[in-house]
Amino acid sequence: MKLDPLVKPRSVAIVGATDRGGPGRAVMESLGAIGFTGPVYPVNPNYATVLNIKCYPTLMELPEAPDIVVFSIRNPLIPEQMRLAVKRGVGAAVIYDSGFAELGEDGAKLQEEIAGLAREAGMPVCGPNCMGILNPPARVTTYKQNVIEPAAIVGNVGIVSQSGSVCIALVSDLRRFGISLAVSAGNEAVTRTVDYLEYLIDDPNTKVIATFTETVREPERYVAALDRAADAGKPVVAIKVGRTERTQRAITSHTGGLAGSSRVFSELLRAHRAIEVSDLDEMTEVLAVCQGKRWPRGRGISVITGSGGLSELILDNATALGLDLPPLTPAEREEAQRVIGRTSGDGNPFDAWGNGNYAVNIPHAMSVVENSERIDAICYCNDTSNDPIIGQPSRVYENVEMIAKAASASRKPYYLLSTRSGVMNRKQIDAMRESGLVVIGGTRQGLCAIDRVGRWSLGLKPARNSSTAKQQAFAAAATAGRHSINEFDAKRLLAGYGIPVTREERVDTAEQATIAARKLGYPVVLKVVSDAIAHKTELGLVAVNLKSDEALREAFARLNERLNKLEPRPADAAFLVQEFVAGGIEVFAGVSRDPDFGLSLAFGMGGIAIEIVRDFALRMLPLRDGDAETMIAETRGAALLQSVRGGEAADIESLAKCLYALGDFASHNAEQLAEIDLNPIKVLPKGRGCVVVDALIVPGQDKKS
Ligand code: ADP
Ligand code: MG
Repeated sequence: MKLDPLVKPRSVAIVGATDRGGPGRAVMESLGAIGFTGPVYPVNPNYATVLNIKCYPTLMELPEAPDIVVFSIRNPLIPEQMRLAVKRGVGAAVIYDSGFAELGEDGAKLQEEIAGLAREAGMPVCGPNCMGILNPPARVTTYKQNVIEPAAIVGNVGIVSQSGSVCIALVSDLRRFGISLAVSAGNEAVTRTVDYLEYLIDDPNTKVIATFTETVREPERYVAALDRAADAGKPVVAIKVGRTERTQRAITSHTGGLAGSSRVFSELLRAHRAIEVSDLDEMTEVLAVCQGKRWPRGRGISVITGSGGLSELILDNATALGLDLPPLTPAEREEAQRVIGRTSGDGNPFDAWGNGNYAVNIPHAMSVVENSERIDAICYCNDTSNDPIIGQPSRVYENVEMIAKAASASRKPYYLLSTRSGVMNRKQIDAMRESGLVVIGGTRQGLCAIDRVGRWSLGLKPARNSSTAKQQAFAAAATAGRHSINEFDAKRLLAGYGIPVTREERVDTAEQATIAARKLGYPVVLKVVSDAIAHKTELGLVAVNLKSDEALREAFARLNERLNKLEPRPADAAFLVQEFVAGGIEVFAGVSRDPDFGLSLAFGMGGIAIEIVRDFALRMLPLRDGDAETMIAETRGAALLQSVRGGEAADIESLAKCLYALGDFASHNAEQLAEIDLNPIKVLPKGRGCVVVDALIVPGQDKKS
């Protein structure tokens, strides 16, 4: 569906326009204010004119079929007007009124009726339950707020919001960026976030895209659009909130229960190079950073201040946030002190007050970090607000001049940073902009915004390539109609991918068990195996650390008795004699399928704590190089894998290999896979590897195939 008539119409009809008010009048007034030059057609049988413009009784009487019609009428009247619009050959429509799918079944029916008409006619529709669309560069608007200062609105940020209020919030502060297109998409009955995204990727006026998304309606198209935006060099800055429209599913594995939709959506955004932010403060700062003539090309930030206290505050926060503030090298420090005098801390943040010669010291500090290879962005932190009533007013421009001078001789981006987001001076903003520079705010939000854009610039590591060489074995098991694949069979499949598993034998009788145990060597573990039993311990069907024939026989009798009491006793039940893996640290890894976005891999520390503290890392599959190592590092519990109290460090390298192998197995078999649990994996001391001691695979069909 072509969006042109919807986003940049050349003629606009307003059904339900009156002089008295409502969205219709606001749109008519805004069209005048923004400098729209095409025809505007008020439609209302009760008036001869609206705002002194000739008014038509119905859409049918218009002298031409307009590009767009906006409905400034209540929802019960809309289906009939929509039929007329289709009949008249109107190109697109905006429906502002609420009372549709967001209200439940009756509303959904009404919405579907309208959407059906539009889809049949190939007509793009914004809404219902929306604010409309504002297109400042094209000088046209169907946005239902009054446009007051049209020149100040124009810019390069494309906004697509499923919430009208969030759209209002974003366009209410245009001090540091303007808008190429603002879409309040509402219920998206016909035209959806992904349609607007695709439009903005190709829109030459748009440099960066801001989205607020509650529901992704076409996941595959959405993901493809994110990839295309990244390829086009346009960051998508995304806020997401709870995701509805989800198919319910039964979950067998523990991993399935962990990877909830919200975490998966975050990982999806990461995997497709979108910049996720959690609120409008963060979003605004990222959009501001994107206004700079130069963007950070990496994550190293230098913060220059004139205050030791502020330096400490910033360092505390930056450390907690994982920001990269590289300290000065000894040589850099020496050079700094030569001019500045004493500097505190490690030089980042860089307290450049020193001997108090401000006009010399700050530029000198900038020159020192300018030459540092590890620094990708330079901030000077200094607070000024509008109409300063205290301090030195001349500093407003002096600071800008100082930064502009340093920046003009640099290939790195420079920023003026205020300590609080939103607190800034308009004159500084405008003066900085003249040099292609931006003011950012909030030591957390502002610095995080630089970090996010720096990360974005670094791009993504390539995804591990997916060969199909070893699929056959799993395909046969998966298509045999099994609900789940038990530990023994699962381990054989995983071992085929180089995943280290316990040595073990499947047996039926106590005699066979004893022979197997002697072969493996005591101590051993005895377990019941069956596709019907996903969690064995709950049923008392695991006995560990059996040291002798006698202990094994006893355990066999005990487990057998419990097994016989099961209603019904699983027909495939057998026993597993397994090497007992002493020591090591228990971790888990698993794979689960999101109905919309496909497979993800989870990793965390073992034990039941995981379900309570939810300390686990998640990535979409296929993994990218480096993912396994960062996943291990980013879980808080990973500290246990390091050498604790003089103990041996665990074999993290082999664990990472195991995670990659699991990811490969899952990626290669994605079409027939629902869930995998490796729980636990025992990670042995460095040099001795890791071993999967329990495994479960749940086959399932990818809904796409
Ligand atoms: P479940 O089906 O209940 O998850 P597991 O096979 O994971 O059963 O066994 C339960 C626990 O017993 C494991 O979490 C682990 O602590 C211990 N365990 C199981 N197998 C072994 C083994 N081969 N060596 C050492 N400990 C084991
Ligand atoms: Mg287990």
